[in-house]
Amino acid sequence: MLIGIVGYPEIDYYYKNINIRGCGKTLTMTYYLFQSHKKEQKTILTNYHTSFSRYMKSMDIVDEIFNGDLTNIAVGFDEFQEVLSSLGENKKKVKFYSKLVNQSRKKSTDIYYCSPLFKDIHNRLREKTNILLNPTKHHYTDFKKCFKDSCPEKHYIKVNMYKPFYKEGMKYLKPEIVGKYYNTFEIINEDDEENELA
Ligand SMILES: [Zn+2]
Repeated sequence: MLIGIVGYPEIDYYYKNINIRGCGKTLTMTYYLFQSHKKEQKTILTNYHTSFSRYMKSMDIVDEIFNGDLTNIAVGFDEFQEVLSSLGENKKKVKFYSKLVNQSRKKSTDIYYCSPLFKDIHNRLREKTNILLNPTKHHYTDFKKCFKDSCPEKHYIKVNMYKPFYKEGMKYLKPEIVGKYYNTFEIINEDDEENELA
């Protein structure tokens, strides 16, 4: 399966002023990867550090997808839009897309990716994404959505199942619990800092 976790799932336009970076994407991905590790005994490969996965550099995971035969594995790509843009020439990108889709079709292989905007993911991969999740961050006190990066309030993450739309598939995650399994302050790419300051 190919599972996308995005801050903004529409592709035609987006609201520039909404902060979609801190909405719980990595947290959501970590939650699902942990379930997959615990319940299905899958080996987990991630381009960020967790307490239960094998950390690999993004390009090493890309190589693994190109050349390896992934079975009983779940992959978690954080900041996937950066990984895709660093693949370089278009020919390599197109090859990677079809390789990734092929690997994700295997019964025992799941590939998760996070990206702030769904539109930053190439059309070919968007089409082949089986499940698209859209997490939002909320306050415990009034259930309102929160867009602040640093906010003293207590939050929970609401995971909306955007495609296929499935209301019962909604999940509520507690950051203080899932957050224990990974370093929430890790920066995958230096560009992220710039984006946050912009
Ligand atoms: Zn808040």
